[in-house]
Amino acid sequence: AKTAGKNQFQLFDEETDRMHVRKLELERDLRKALANKELRIYYQPKWDAERNCISGMEALLRWEHPRLGMVSPAEFIPIAEETGLIVSITRWVLIEVCRQNRSWQQRDLVHVCVSVNMSIRVFESSMLCEMVEEALMESGIEPGDLELEITESIAMYDVQDTIRQLQHLKGLGVRVSMDDFGTGYSSLGNLDEIPIDALKIDQMFIRQSAQPSKQAIISTIIAIAAHLKLEVVAEGVETEEQIGFLQSRGCRMMQGYYYGKPMDVDALESWLLSKGG
Ligand code: C2E
Ligand code: CA
Ligand code: CA
Ligand code: CA
Repeated sequence: AKTAGKNQFQLFDEETDRMHVRKLELERDLRKALANKELRIYYQPKWDAERNCISGMEALLRWEHPRLGMVSPAEFIPIAEETGLIVSITRWVLIEVCRQNRSWQQRDLVHVCVSVNMSIRVFESSMLCEMVEEALMESGIEPGDLELEITESIAMYDVQDTIRQLQHLKGLGVRVSMDDFGTGYSSLGNLDEIPIDALKIDQMFIRQSAQPSKQAIISTIIAIAAHLKLEVVAEGVETEEQIGFLQSRGCRMMQGYYYGKPMDVDALESWLLSKGG
């Protein structure tokens, strides 16, 4: 039993080492990923369940690592944040998304607002406004066709500075939504002062929306959005039961695997054509 215990400990130790080595490797390689064109942008549709048409898209990063294969953003975004690389990555995403959106509009494939996820580090860098203006200028899209998804933690890190930056962005005409709503440190206290256009109900609530207590939370978020005249989008919608419940509570904007997974540009264009534009 003693030896088994020791072996187990060694196994655990090796596992920790492997994770550490992987993280160091990812850290080292992420510096070159942009230049090596290993980052890809996938797009997931948002669906208007009332009008039965696409209402927007969210850009989601993917990293095709030459040796390790697909690395999830849940793994490499934190590394990008720690190393500061997130600023140049976000700059690239903004330009790429605006160009892509312009191309879809010019080809009459689709004309919707596309959203980009924002990290707190980008707000701290004070370069966001400049980066957004650059992407709009360079692509020539209307500012209303770009949305930034922020989280409650961004809104909380320095409320006055965040509001100042968001007001500048809203002045440009860009849309802003609050992502993962209900999961962060509650910013309910000043939600009315943060200039946003939409709330996104976190997928954790949708996943458990058969539970009466979660239904109460979802209904409350929808009611808050209505009072503050914000749009509301449900994330992680996978089943017809969830859609039925959400619609019965007045939520019409949906995003999730039920409607479409995040797709690369080719897959997304086929998806759009299959939906009749
Ligand atoms: P998020 O912004 O909350 O994005 C939603 C996540 O849920 C995405 O995971 C998406 O693929 C997944 N998802 C969408 N619909 C469903 C569904 O019906 N069921 C399930 N189970 N999952 C669904 P993904 O693509 O792995 O991204 C993870 C997170 O990485 C994102 O969470 C976001 O916080 C971050 N991220 C992705 N791209 C970027 C980026 O360009 N910049 C920054 N700063 N963060 C990013
Ligand atoms: Ca998001
Ligand atoms: Ca989210
Ligand atoms: Ca999330």
